[in-house]
Amino acid sequence: MSNWGHKHIIDLSSFSFEDYKEVLELANRFKRLPQAGSRKLPALQGRLIATLFFEPSTRTRSSFELAAKKLSADVQSFSPSSSSLSKGETPLDTVMTYVAMGAEVLVIRHSSAGVPAQLAKYLDQKNKKVAILNGGDGLHSHPSQALLDLFTLTNYFDNVNNSPECLFGKTITIVGDILHSRVARSNLWSLTGCGANVILCGPKSLLPEDFVRFAKEPPSDQKDDPIIKRGDITICRSLKDSLKKTDALITLRLQKERMSENLISNLNSYHHEYGITHKKLEWCDKAIPVLHPGPVNRGIEMSSKLLEDSSICLVEEQVSNGIPIRMSLLYLLAATNTN
Ligand code: ASP
Repeated sequence: MSNWGHKHIIDLSSFSFEDYKEVLELANRFKRLPQAGSRKLPALQGRLIATLFFEPSTRTRSSFELAAKKLSADVQSFSPSSSSLSKGETPLDTVMTYVAMGAEVLVIRHSSAGVPAQLAKYLDQKNKKVAILNGGDGLHSHPSQALLDLFTLTNYFDNVNNSPECLFGKTITIVGDILHSRVARSNLWSLTGCGANVILCGPKSLLPEDFVRFAKEPPSDQKDDPIIKRGDITICRSLKDSLKKTDALITLRLQKERMSENLISNLNSYHHEYGITHKKLEWCDKAIPVLHPGPVNRGIEMSSKLLEDSSICLVEEQVSNGIPIRMSLLYLLAATNTN
């Protein structure tokens, strides 16, 4: 019996432990389907899902489209350069066009934080039966990426049950350009929400001190935190000290397109200090998995050799896991929409 109560998925601050559990359980079932011989499910047959990416994307958009097709949905995608946006149409008018065509879930990516939330509010005021799924907005949030990261970690730590319980008390380090990362912000909600303690590691210019206060309070439009006891967030500037304590590592891209000024003067010294290599992983006191949301700058945040070592680096697994996670999100939203 589903307890799903979200009409839209904008960020993970409102997710309860039960929500994480439900998404992961469903994703686990979808992930095992090909082995059982059934390649496509009729679950969303005849339902229209639109992917409206106002900002470029490779894996998120293809992953959502594949996920929708695996549930037999009709998928309509939109590309800003060949659309009426180039004639001056606003994102709101674009959205209303797809709503008028009968789309039930709109996956939206935008370079400005808050756009998916504003659109969801507008659609609710108009009583439209359409769900917004945030595909990444500015520096704010990228919920499906954080959920596929969570799924990849639970797969690693508890291959049998794949339950978020296995993260309780674990230490997960996030290293790199945290300031400009919507993925890190969403990871912080999901990891601490599942009881993991997070170490943030990076230079001051990419990781301001006040990140330790992140997730201490729910956002202003939300009453309470649905998580009773979140894991802790600490900052550690030394990669060596972070690696000694960690059970898993998430590295992040230097997101130059989101920086208002150049905050890294020398890429070689950044790689020297924070780039991950086989050699630096020897600082860990155990074997740990390395994740990265992609796209990867080879030789900057991670060496090419490590990126290609699938015994440690789980990037390919993250990409594969993105499909069952997004199937699960689309399914939960579209199913709620009929009630
Ligand atoms: N693909 C992720 C995002 O859209 C991470 C990145 O761009 O570095 O935020």
